[in-house]
This record gives sequence, C-alpha cells and structure tokens, in this order.
Amino acid sequence: MSAVRTPVLAGNWKLFKTGSEGAEFVAALGRRLGRIQGVDVVVAPSFTALYQVAQVAVEHGIGVASQDVYWEEQGAFTGEVAPRMIKDTGAGWVIIGHSERRQFFGETNDGVARKVRAVLHAKLRPILCVGELEEQRVAGETEQVLKTQVEAGLSMVEATNMSSLALAYEPVWAIGTGRTATPQQAQEACAFIRELVVEKLGTNAAATVRILYGGSVKPDNAAELMSQDDIDGGLVGGASLEVESFAGIIEQSRATRT
Ligand code: PEP
Repeated sequence: MSAVRTPVLAGNWKLFKTGSEGAEFVAALGRRLGRIQGVDVVVAPSFTALYQVAQVAVEHGIGVASQDVYWEEQGAFTGEVAPRMIKDTGAGWVIIGHSERRQFFGETNDGVARKVRAVLHAKLRPILCVGELEEQRVAGETEQVLKTQVEAGLSMVEATNMSSLALAYEPVWAIGTGRTATPQQAQEACAFIRELVVEKLGTNAAATVRILYGGSVKPDNAAELMSQDDIDGGLVGGASLEVESFAGIIEQSRATRT
C-alpha cells in the first residue's frame, strides 16, 4: 500500500531527564538538526518535565509527548494526569500502552482503549504501542497478539481519527535489549498491523496512519528499518537519550525519504 506519510521519530525518555536536562537536550538537538523538515520529531519526558521541555521544543519545531495518561477528565483519582492537563503543558502527543506500562503497571487492553479515546477527544495525538513477548513469537502467536492489541486499542476510534494517531510496533524482546528485529520481521509485523487497520477502518485510514517500529533502533540500523514500505518512523528508547545518536537516527530516517 503506497502513500506519502511523514515519518515520526519519537524519543521515549522513560525515567530519565529532569525538566532542565530535557530543555537543554531539545535546544541542543534543535541546533544540531537545524530547521527540521520532512519528519516529525517528538520527545517524551516524564510528566514533571513536560512544560519545561515544551517551552523550548516549540522554538525548534520539536513535538512533545507524555509517556502515559489517564482517561478521566477530572475527579478523585489521586496521582493521575488527565489529557487536558497534558495539553496545558504544551505537549501534543501521548504514548499509550507501552510494554513497560503493560508489564510493570497492569495496563490492560481495556484501559488502553479508553486512553486512546480520551486523548483523541482532547485533540492530542496518541502513539499506541503494541507488540509480542519473546515466548509469544516463539510459539507462533505474534499475529494473534497484535490482532488482539490493535483491535482493542482502536475499538473506540473512528476512521477520521487515523491521521492524528500513530501505531508503534514494539516487539517486547527487542526493547532495551540490543536485539533489534530484522527489517523483514519489522516490515512483516507493520504490514500485518496495516491490514488490521484496513479491516477495521478501511483503506484510506490504513493508508494515512503512521506505523512506527520500536526496539533497539540505533543510527546504524535506522536507515534499513525506516526504508521498509510499512514503517513510517521509529519509537526510540535508549538511543534517544544522547543528542548525537538521536540526531543520527533522525538523519538516517529522513535520508530514506529523499
Ligand atoms: C522504547 O522504550 O520504546 C524502546 C523502543 O526502547 P529501546 O529503543 O531502548 O529498545
């Protein structure tokens, strides 16, 4: 399925970087990349750093994402952060259903679906993460796992929302392990996910939605991964923590589209 989709390169900073460290980082990244064109660059700091990072990021055309969200707009939900609060920081994106949230914090497919709906309702852009565990891949269950996660995550989404949403295919065995999926494995999974979008929301929605690969993306493997037909960018953890390596990934990815 061919379409022109602007790649997204999103850096997931996890539990690293304070507000001032993040602000310094985006200033340095902005200087390093110059005027960013032809690619959406996004960084995802902790909640407490969103405002400070967004203040600087906007000057450099860099987007900001939160790493999670709650689905309610307000109420007695101690410790949670609502979509409108994230929007108020200046962030425009929200990562939802990251495997670390699913594995360590009890994130469920039902919660993911509610978060996606709430984020779209607030006019923010979800990055919906899906991916199989190693034992599921070995058991031949990858497609079934992706089908369950994608169908649940998109269960409250309309076709018209798909230009605002990105899906991230992140095989759990490749996250933070240095074991990148081969370009063929990543392409196969992303193509399968795009087919699921066709089935659920139609061809136009599937041609529009950006599907990212995540899992040990580095400057030296980015070009080959990002040149696959159904891969429209990357969700990058470890290698997004240093300006030079994240800039290298962005440049490699941009080069595949020119
Ligand atoms: C991630 O955290 O989403 C991720 C892909 O991490 P890493 O790039 O370090 O594997």
